[in-house]
Amino acid sequence: VFGLLILGCSVCCKSSWNQLQDLCRLAKLSCPALGVSKKNLYDFEVEYLCDYKKIREQEYYLVKWRGYPDSENTWEPRQNLKCIRVLKQFHKDLERELVRRHRRSKPPRHLDPNLANYLVQKAKQRRALQRWEQELNAKRSHLGRITVENEVDLDGPPRSFVYINEYRVGEGITLNQVAVGCECQDCLLAPTGGCCPGASLHKFAYNDQGQVRLKAGQPIYECNSRCCCGYDCPNRVVQKGIRYDLCIFRTNDGRGWGVRTLEKIRKNSFVMEYVGEIITSEEAERRGQIYDRQGATYLFDLDYVEDVYTVDAAYYGNISHFVNHSCDPNLQVYNVFIDNLDERLPRIAFFATRTIWAGEELTFDYNMQGGGGKSPRGRGSDMGCEDPTPRHIWVIEWTKENSFAGVLRCSS
Ligand SMILES: [Zn+2]
Ligand SMILES: [Zn+2]
Ligand SMILES: [Zn+2]
Repeated sequence: VFGLLILGCSVCCKSSWNQLQDLCRLAKLSCPALGVSKKNLYDFEVEYLCDYKKIREQEYYLVKWRGYPDSENTWEPRQNLKCIRVLKQFHKDLERELVRRHRRSKPPRHLDPNLANYLVQKAKQRRALQRWEQELNAKRSHLGRITVENEVDLDGPPRSFVYINEYRVGEGITLNQVAVGCECQDCLLAPTGGCCPGASLHKFAYNDQGQVRLKAGQPIYECNSRCCCGYDCPNRVVQKGIRYDLCIFRTNDGRGWGVRTLEKIRKNSFVMEYVGEIITSEEAERRGQIYDRQGATYLFDLDYVEDVYTVDAAYYGNISHFVNHSCDPNLQVYNVFIDNLDERLPRIAFFATRTIWAGEELTFDYNMQGGGGKSPRGRGSDMGCEDPTPRHIWVIEWTKENSFAGVLRCSS
């Protein structure tokens, strides 16, 4: 039932988690991996509510029981239900939808089947998003927590997206480990030979608060695994990962998913890296054509010195995958070198351009890295580029729903 295991080979299970739980309950089998134990095999837990009616003054709810198939749903009077949170959510969803449909919030004595069906879809979506949120948090290696929220439509988690914390290096590409580190007494206050950035005649990137003080376009060289300094060295910022709690939320103006911060972020603070698969630019060209046909692309050229490699965050990525574009962004891109000093393979880090308040959406402008003052191209523009001057012209690509989908390199 749970997939085959032959000599280390495995195949995907075609049934959903919930179908498998249902099968367990029906067959009276316990399975720790599915959370069905001997103890709770006969427990009744409300998974979500499917319908509502009022008979005389008594309210009833149609209950979907966790681990039981829909055919076992039962109508229960309100006083039988101890699930305050589920009840609250059900009424919140019901009222919001009543207002949307009929401009009133008081529930009728019976829900029309279409509305009841909507509430079931909403509950299933919440369940799927919760599971996705757990999955994302299980995979993150950074401090900042990730929450997921969709109060806008019925879209669930993206179908094919794998959360990663650092670059996934494609075939035939190697990241060389740095061979030397610094020997400073104090990397910020008493740097020897300019500390790690000094070794390549660059400036020290941070102040004592970890805020970047370089102009955009200047590279950041952080301390690395060979340095004598410790974890608390002021020159270790990007390598510590995302530290803010962030929320992936559904935008209400057709831009798909977006990201907002749940905490205040001070100006010039590191927010997140742009990670994905590193591929060659030829491979990016090939994929770009496919993504283009699909109407979405997440390609990001590493063109700090020369255009050899590209980051593709379409399938493997972190929370930056969901950050939208803006012409007036609050995030700025920097090229960062830590354990790999190959200038063709910088890490891409986003820093706050201003104070970003809790609740604000995070955005960046794909056009800003190379300067040149070009404004991004909107939807419908062709991917060609007549202006030969700047190297870094990125063309904004839009999906059918008019949500920003990523970037394509200018082909000039
Ligand atoms: Zn140092
Ligand atoms: Zn160092
Ligand atoms: Zn250091």
